[in-house]
Amino acid sequence: MPSQAESAPRNKLTPLQQRLQRLGLQHEQDFIVHLPLRYEDQTQVTPIARLRPGQASLVEAEVLQADVQFRPRRQLQARVADDSGELALRWLNFYPSQQKALEVGRRLRIWGEARLGFNGLEMVHPRLNQASGMLSSTLTPIYPTTAGLAQPSLRRLITQALARADLSDTLPDEVRRRFDLIPFEQAIRCLHHPSPDVSLASFEDHSHPAWHRIKFDELLAQQLSLAMARAMRHSQKAWPLDGHDGDLVQRLEQAIPFALTGAQQRAVAEIRADMLRAHPMHRLLQGDVGSGKTVVAAMAAAIAIDSGFQVALMAPTEILAEQHFRKLADWLGPLGVQTTWLTGSLRTRQRREALESIANGNARLVVGTQALIQTHVQFEKLGLVVLDEQHRFGVGQRLELNRKGEEAEAAVRYMPHQLSMSATPIPRTLAMTFFADLDVSVLDELPPGRSPVVTKLISMDRRDEVLAHVGDEIRQGRQAYWVCPLVEESEALQLQTAVDTHALLAQAMPDLSIGLVHGRLKPDEKAAVMEAFRQGEIHLLVATTVIEVGVDVPNASLMLIEHAERFGLAQLHQLRGRVGRGSAKSVCLLMYQTPLSMVARQRLRAMYETNDGFEIARRDLEQRGPGEFLGVRQSGQALLRFADLETDGGLVEQARTLAAEWLEQQPELAQRHLRRWMRGRQDYLRS
Ligand code: ADP
Ligand code: MG
Repeated sequence: MPSQAESAPRNKLTPLQQRLQRLGLQHEQDFIVHLPLRYEDQTQVTPIARLRPGQASLVEAEVLQADVQFRPRRQLQARVADDSGELALRWLNFYPSQQKALEVGRRLRIWGEARLGFNGLEMVHPRLNQASGMLSSTLTPIYPTTAGLAQPSLRRLITQALARADLSDTLPDEVRRRFDLIPFEQAIRCLHHPSPDVSLASFEDHSHPAWHRIKFDELLAQQLSLAMARAMRHSQKAWPLDGHDGDLVQRLEQAIPFALTGAQQRAVAEIRADMLRAHPMHRLLQGDVGSGKTVVAAMAAAIAIDSGFQVALMAPTEILAEQHFRKLADWLGPLGVQTTWLTGSLRTRQRREALESIANGNARLVVGTQALIQTHVQFEKLGLVVLDEQHRFGVGQRLELNRKGEEAEAAVRYMPHQLSMSATPIPRTLAMTFFADLDVSVLDELPPGRSPVVTKLISMDRRDEVLAHVGDEIRQGRQAYWVCPLVEESEALQLQTAVDTHALLAQAMPDLSIGLVHGRLKPDEKAAVMEAFRQGEIHLLVATTVIEVGVDVPNASLMLIEHAERFGLAQLHQLRGRVGRGSAKSVCLLMYQTPLSMVARQRLRAMYETNDGFEIARRDLEQRGPGEFLGVRQSGQALLRFADLETDGGLVEQARTLAAEWLEQQPELAQRHLRRWMRGRQDYLRS
């Protein structure tokens, strides 16, 4: 994430300002909410005789002797004493100022952790202060800092800011009573300078009422900005798509070879209602692998096309884009819809033709990969954008695509409606925070006639047995995938493994037709292999993870994954989702190599125990944490410094409720609160 500091002109800042900026400290309000990591208790002096090893303490003592020694290495060492005993001090790195402070006979305050050394009790690298002035009456805060900015300087700046700044409450009394929150000023003062009698444990685990208040404020700010982003979207214009031009939707529904499930019908109805509005839809269609998202996208496309608009559908891989193109052209082509294909691998002439038909409006539906946004694509009248496997696209790319429509309609600045699809369910707290700007439709029902995939775990030692078994199954008419192990270190090695596996299987089962698909094949080669597999001409398809998302060959009912322990949980679930798409009973064999790490063992157990995408996602989140889970480390996450989505779900709900009320009834309160918390940060929330 480009930090504030990087985008600002560096040369005009003093070194101190640069360091402060690195910490995000620019305005007075930033200092106020720069909160301590922990505290030191320097409110009492401990007699040397009562020091306990391992415990940091403040000592007041007289310097008996001090010098620089050279054995075993250069170091500054000193002996000090109080009425109760003697203590050795040692610094391996030191400044002349420290040497000077250690003048024999001088009384010093010494802060450090005592430990038992060669010479009895000692402190290594203690901090020294004059033994003058009163002891602090509050705990000493230790702040997050950066190289070159010492705690005392930072502490001074924060104390100054606290003295000057406006600490008035952004929450009215009535709100504080309702959510049981202490006043802001009290919380802030308490966190910066707690009195020595507080329970430090409740500070450390952020459960103290002061932390509670700060976390609420932070979450409220986040919810407010998300809600404002949403409101902004609602203030954007989009063409209402009412499907007035014909009955394409009905004809499509008749043309597809099955009836929509109840869940699919609901999703289509929700999308239809969204697209009728004059502001852009921003809907996520969430459904487990195999739940039938594609046909919902096709219906949405039909509505838009019926309304006289173009539709762009984007998939993260060529194989998937190709498959969508084929399926949608199959369904919509006979109904008179011209569908065009656009990927990075098109030859110049094909490409030019595709771009032309997109620009002049002949192409009503454009299916493609990232090429749809990476190249300069002009639509005649883009009404709907569909992103399949949305989680595979970066945040930035999603924005790019949005802008594309904006450009195309620059004269009137109408935005296309947007439908994203994903099999990765978003847990509730995340949905409320990071994705609060999305409406969600869920396909919670699988098409009829599916029987759940049976998952088996088998040690790699039994590969030969597995091979024989697979051969038998295939000879009885099944089709199977054989997924080669991930080799993360090297793509070349990964490829080699796939080629070797293919050769080995072909040799072992000469009577069967065995195909090979991997990322290095040319797109038309890939397409040809997939088509042969779809047609049943290939019985066993050896593959790398290129088949991971979206691939749909209902007749395939056996999935083998070698070295399953190397794959992530979401990835395994996606791979398993390639089977169990037809009516045949499907099996997924996970072959693993022992010994297994703890995490790998947990993952395999999860796969064995459940087929439920929600449960898989929950466990995945547990194992990986939200940032990695979403693949959006950079976006909203950095904004939450204090609150923790895992433990503060209740607070998220409260903050969300209040944010909605404020924006409706008291926008000036919202503005004031945001000024305190979100200075210059709102940009990050846009995506
Ligand atoms: P995903 O949600 O994983 O993208 P797909 O859209 O690829 O799922 O659909 C999975 C399979 O189920 C496809 O073969 C599709 O044709 C089929 N399918 C989808 N909806 C239904 C339905 N209502 N009845 C029967 N089969 C369906
Ligand atoms: Mg799909």
